[in-house]
Amino acid sequence: MTPEPTTEPSADGIAEALSYAACHGIIVRSRDGQTLTHAPFTYWPSRIPRACYTEAIRLTTALNLLVRAIARDRAFLRRVLVGTAAADASFTGRLLALAEAQPHREDDHDLTICRFDYFVQEKQLRMVEMNTIAASFACLGAKTAAMHRHLATHPASSADYAAQGATTDHLPSPELPSPPVALARAIAVAHESHLRAYASHIGGTPVATVMVVQPGERNAFDQDALRHTLWTNHKVHMKRLSLHEIDVQASVDGSGHLILGETHISVVYLRAGYTPTDYPSESEWRARALLEKSNASVCPTAAVQLAGTKKVQQVLDQPHELEHFIQDGRLAAAIRATFARQYSLNESDGGGEHARLGIEDANNFVLKPQREGGGNNLYSDEMRIALLKMSAEERSAFVLMERIRPAVVDNALVRDGKYAMAGVVSELGVYGALVVAGGDVVLNEAAGTLLRSKSALQDDGGVAAGVAVLDSACLVE
Ligand code: ADP
Ligand code: MG
Repeated sequence: MTPEPTTEPSADGIAEALSYAACHGIIVRSRDGQTLTHAPFTYWPSRIPRACYTEAIRLTTALNLLVRAIARDRAFLRRVLVGTAAADASFTGRLLALAEAQPHREDDHDLTICRFDYFVQEKQLRMVEMNTIAASFACLGAKTAAMHRHLATHPASSADYAAQGATTDHLPSPELPSPPVALARAIAVAHESHLRAYASHIGGTPVATVMVVQPGERNAFDQDALRHTLWTNHKVHMKRLSLHEIDVQASVDGSGHLILGETHISVVYLRAGYTPTDYPSESEWRARALLEKSNASVCPTAAVQLAGTKKVQQVLDQPHELEHFIQDGRLAAAIRATFARQYSLNESDGGGEHARLGIEDANNFVLKPQREGGGNNLYSDEMRIALLKMSAEERSAFVLMERIRPAVVDNALVRDGKYAMAGVVSELGVYGALVVAGGDVVLNEAAGTLLRSKSALQDDGGVAAGVAVLDSACLVE
């Protein structure tokens, strides 16, 4: 846990990094939405053991299939989520109702884009969570990795990099699938399969794909870079629409085709809809129901979204649950080896006893609700106080997870054009992409990686929440 001794970045190096970020679009909207600024990033790539990096990538295709298998098992979703759905009726409950209304939604055509996130604790992977909806930063993350490769050799920064042992030999090979390229390819494959399946119906009708976005999204350029890659590499058009716009503008015809004005929609990729605030009215829920009912490939369906809930991940940690979905014993064991212990807080599964664990040993647990997007978990005293106050029913909206203690390394965090040195912890994400056409898996791959780092003093929070920054991996033996 001792931070490595670190030099500070040179002024020239920081200037080069900022120039690179501006020229290559490592950009977000400022908080007031009026101006653009660079996305926060680390000056150096952060150390990740090569064996952990390789293992995380190796497990990804099995995890993609795991997500699909869980999503299709409506009886499992119901058994696992019924208590949570009661305690969180207006969100988890509604998603479960949507999934149950279309029990075969994923059978024929499906597009799943996930990101599996890990910390490294004592040179072992520890899974933080599986994201099955709106996993972001594929594009800005890839650009950050490219920026680090640039800085490793550029005269303005190479001495800083050499002082940290972050030479190009330690950076992952650029031939690895780049997340935007791999994700755009998956979307294009889903689109083409849809065109083939419905060719006679579509005829000469214009066809497009849709990205569902939050109004006023700050991270729009990460999203748009993916749309641009989809256009450049595959000539597939992707429109940006909010859930409300879908409710107002789209319809499903008698054969299940999703129609937007004169345009037939093949694929819908959600970068919104993961948090209750994305549903300010019934209109947004109507849009989700419309998508479920359509024959477009919807990434994700309600069931796939639910497969990524914290509750499902807690249940997978229980004996035999993971193994029910992954028959290959060695693969199941390798995935299980990445799990941190998780405990149910449902009364019928020993919730009271488990809550006591969290109350008595608050520093070694994290309390997680069924929410995405960072900043929702409770830690330490805040967690202890919350657990003491909650009724048994309220508790079942949460799970209790063993606290992971990743190694701390020094880095320089660059925000608003200035750097600050910090001891940071890094979270490795591996994107997964899966396409099903006519009931067959036609694409299943690890779609590249993302590294995000945050000050070790911060408990929670992602890049979008303003806590973590973009990083890339410096592979060490
Ligand atoms: P979200 O869906 O909000 O991203 P996460 O499970 O990823 O939920 O939790 C958010 C953040 O909280 C993570 O990025 C990580 O920094 C921290 N965190 C989550 N689980 C743990 C854990 N078991 N131990 C330590 N930190 C955790
Ligand atoms: Mg997360």
